[in-house]
Amino acid sequence: MGSHVCSKCQRSGHNARTCYNKREVVDKLKEFLGKINNEAHSENKKILVLEMMSFLQRNIRFVHDHEHFSNVVRKKLEEFAIVNNWRLEEHYKKIFKKSMPSNEIILKNRQL
Ligand SMILES: [Zn+2]
Repeated sequence: MGSHVCSKCQRSGHNARTCYNKREVVDKLKEFLGKINNEAHSENKKILVLEMMSFLQRNIRFVHDHEHFSNVVRKKLEEFAIVNNWRLEEHYKKIFKKSMPSNEIILKNRQL
């Protein structure tokens, strides 16, 4: 027995490490994406992107449960690699469990 109570949502038999509130995560991510799109200053934009990446790493189960959303984030990271020359490889690897493709491959895969 000894039913474990989740420290995040107080449900029993629930693991706080993988627990997330979908509404909260979605709202927070929309807020991040809006700020990132509206930020004109490159360094500030990068800080926001890094904050969003650590947020995602803290809510990694959400990323894995929402394939469409995780593709949006993956493409965004690839876009930053090309457009801003930010290769956030460590974040990419932690979130998507694979290495970031080279800029050449990213460009080739972009069907413009
Ligand atoms: Zn929970």
